[in-house]
Amino acid sequence: MNYIDDLCEFLDSSPLNFWAVETMRQRLDAAGFRQLDMRYEWNVEPGDRCYVVQNGSAIFAFVAGDDDPSAGFDIIAAHSDSPGFRLKPNCEIACERGNVKLNTEVYGGPILYTWFDRPLSIAGRVALRSADVRRPDLRLLRVDSPLLVIPHLAIHFNRAVNEGNPLSKQADMLPVVALDVANPRNLVKDLISETLDVDPDDILDYDLSLYSCAKATTVGLDNEMICSGRLDDLSMVHAALTALLDTCGAPSQRTRVVAIFDNEETGSGTKQGAASPILEHILRRIVACLGGDDSHFLRAVADSFMISADNAHGFHPNYGSKYDPTNHPILGHGPCVKINANCKYMTDADSAAVFRHICQMADVECQSFVNHSDVAGGSTLGNILTSQLPLRGVDMGAPLWAMHSCCETAAAADHIATIKAFSTFFSLI
Ligand code: ZN
Repeated sequence: MNYIDDLCEFLDSSPLNFWAVETMRQRLDAAGFRQLDMRYEWNVEPGDRCYVVQNGSAIFAFVAGDDDPSAGFDIIAAHSDSPGFRLKPNCEIACERGNVKLNTEVYGGPILYTWFDRPLSIAGRVALRSADVRRPDLRLLRVDSPLLVIPHLAIHFNRAVNEGNPLSKQADMLPVVALDVANPRNLVKDLISETLDVDPDDILDYDLSLYSCAKATTVGLDNEMICSGRLDDLSMVHAALTALLDTCGAPSQRTRVVAIFDNEETGSGTKQGAASPILEHILRRIVACLGGDDSHFLRAVADSFMISADNAHGFHPNYGSKYDPTNHPILGHGPCVKINANCKYMTDADSAAVFRHICQMADVECQSFVNHSDVAGGSTLGNILTSQLPLRGVDMGAPLWAMHSCCETAAAADHIATIKAFSTFFSLI
C-alpha cells in the first residue's frame, strides 16, 4: 500500500484521540513492539521495541539504543487530539414531539460552521464498573453508522447569513439524534449498552465526542491533495510512526522515540499532555534499564534532538494578505520549519539548521513559516515540552489549509516528503 492510501486508512480508523492511540498500538504490536506499564518494573535491552500508553490517549514508542546509557535520544513529538465537540453528562434534551438533541461542549478551537449539515457519529471511551473500584473497566466505543446532524438554520430565516453569522456554542451547535423518542433520558446510555453489549447499570461515565463520518480522500486533477478531518495532527502522527516502523530494523546507538501527546489543543496541561513530566519519566527509565544513573540521563538529554511535528498554515490562494510576505509555505513544496521571534516555537538557527540539513539528505524541499507580523498565530507543544526537558529541537510541520475545520486539506507530496525526512532523521549514524 502506498503512503497516501495508508494515511487515509489511518485517519479513518482514528476518529478520536483514544482511537488514534489504539490504531498506533495495533501497528506497533504487528511490528513486534511490546507494551510497558509505568506501574511495573521494566526490562529493556538494547534494540528492544517498546511503547507506553498514558490515559489511553497518549502513546510513547521507542527503539532502545545500544548499551551506552548517555547516548542521546532522537525524538519526534506530535499530538493525538483534534478540536471538536464532547458530549456532556445528562446530554439528552427532549424537544417538540419527540425530537431529541444532545448537549455538547466545545473542545479546543474548531471552525464551528464546518460542522453543520454533515453526517456525524460518536466515538471515545466508556468507563464501566469493575471489581477494582480504583480501576474502572475502560472500553473504546465507536458508533460506525451516521448518528447525528447539526442542521443549519435555513437562509430564509436569516437573509444576512452570508455576511457574517455569529454562532453560539450552546444554542446553535447542538446535534439532533432522533425525531420521535418519547422519553430520551437514557438514550445515550442505552446506545452505549447496545454497542458494547454491556449492562446499562455498569456504565459509570464516558469520554465521548462527535466525529465526521466523511472518509479521508484524495482530491485534485492528479489526486495531489488530501481532504480529511484531523489531518492536524494525525498526519504528522502517521508520518512519525511510519518513519519509526520503516527504520526500526536498523541498529542505532541512540534511542529513537515517537512521543504522541494528548490535549495540545487545550494547552497541554494534563497528565497525558506535553506540560506533564511523562516523557521525562519514560526517558529516565530507559536510561536506567540501559544501566545508567542520573548523570547518564542528564548527559543523554543534553545530547538529544527533538522534532516537534505539528501542521503549519499553507499559503491560501484566496487570502494572500494574511501571510508573511517572504515566508509562506506553499502546499506541495515540502514540510516547513516554524519560526517565531517570541519563542512560541522552539526553533532557532541551530535546530532549524539540523532539520534543513536532514531535508537536504532526504532530497526533499524545506520551507519556512513565520507569522505575518500583524497576525497572532498559534503555538504548539514543542516549547511547552522544553520547559520540562531542556531539549534542542525544531518545530516543523507539513502545510495545510483550513486548520481546525471539520475537513482540512493538505498535499500528498508533502506527506511523502515528511515521511522521507523523518526516516532520514531516524537513520542518522
Ligand atoms: Zn496541531
